[in-house]
Amino acid sequence: MKKVIAIYGKGGIGKSSTASNVAAAAALLGKKVLLIGCDPKSDSSITLLGGKRIPTVLDRLKESPHLSKEDVIFEGFGGVLCMEVGGPEPGVGCAGRGIIVAIETLKKIYPEFMDNDLIIYDVPGDVVCGGFVAPIKKGFVNEVYVLTSGEYMPLYAANNICRGFSRIGMELGGVICNSRNADRERELVEEFSQKIGSRLIGYIPKDPVVQACERDGFSVLEKAPDSKIASVYRQLAHDLIGNSERVKATPLDDDQLRMLSKKYSE
Ligand code: ATP
Ligand code: MG
Repeated sequence: MKKVIAIYGKGGIGKSSTASNVAAAAALLGKKVLLIGCDPKSDSSITLLGGKRIPTVLDRLKESPHLSKEDVIFEGFGGVLCMEVGGPEPGVGCAGRGIIVAIETLKKIYPEFMDNDLIIYDVPGDVVCGGFVAPIKKGFVNEVYVLTSGEYMPLYAANNICRGFSRIGMELGGVICNSRNADRERELVEEFSQKIGSRLIGYIPKDPVVQACERDGFSVLEKAPDSKIASVYRQLAHDLIGNSERVKATPLDDDQLRMLSKKYSE
């Protein structure tokens, strides 16, 4: 089966940077990659396209109901195909509905899209909105990951997201730590991963190169291919591609999570 993954996590934790850098790294490993940005901010693919925003599916559909592949799918760094769902104006409409419309459109204009080796959905943060479950419930995604740092709130969100997964019967592919330089962060996220029945599949250090490249409109794979952080994303892409583990996650209760977090801040 082709890999169709989605990376979930608290707002601002690094989902889009992880998705785009992993997409670039996987393309450099010779994989055919499709990146689908589902966030209304439509910022998932910017760093694969030299800092340029691409027209979104929902915007193009407002102009015409008859789209072709070229209208909304653009080739970025390394040959990664990029599509942005776009979104309703802030405050109105449902992001989840938009994602479904966009994927139905994708199926029509690019029926062979599942031939890609790796499809990455970059989803909006947090659990609250329909955008969270839409790609899973519709069966678009077959592997989910949760991204967190060792800070309490991102862990809290990660745990909640796992609760959401277990409610809808979605198994977890693993946990990725995007470091914020919290105390003994790797050990903490490792223990969290084990406690929920999963494992830490990747650790991304906090590195100013990520933001410097992003500011210039590039992934680190393109702008700083020899950097340490580029190797981290290459390794992560390799490990995600090779991962076949999936578990039914067992989220912690609030007290357990608090105690775990406390244990590592003493
Ligand atoms: P949202 O929920 O708003 O979509 P997000 O989870 O997609 O946010 P990003 O936009 O990817 O988060 O990242 C937030 C900021 O953190 C960005 O400026 C990004 O460059 C930075 N960042 C992400 N990962 C790292 C890292 N490993 N080292 C340094 N900076 C990072
Ligand atoms: Mg994002």
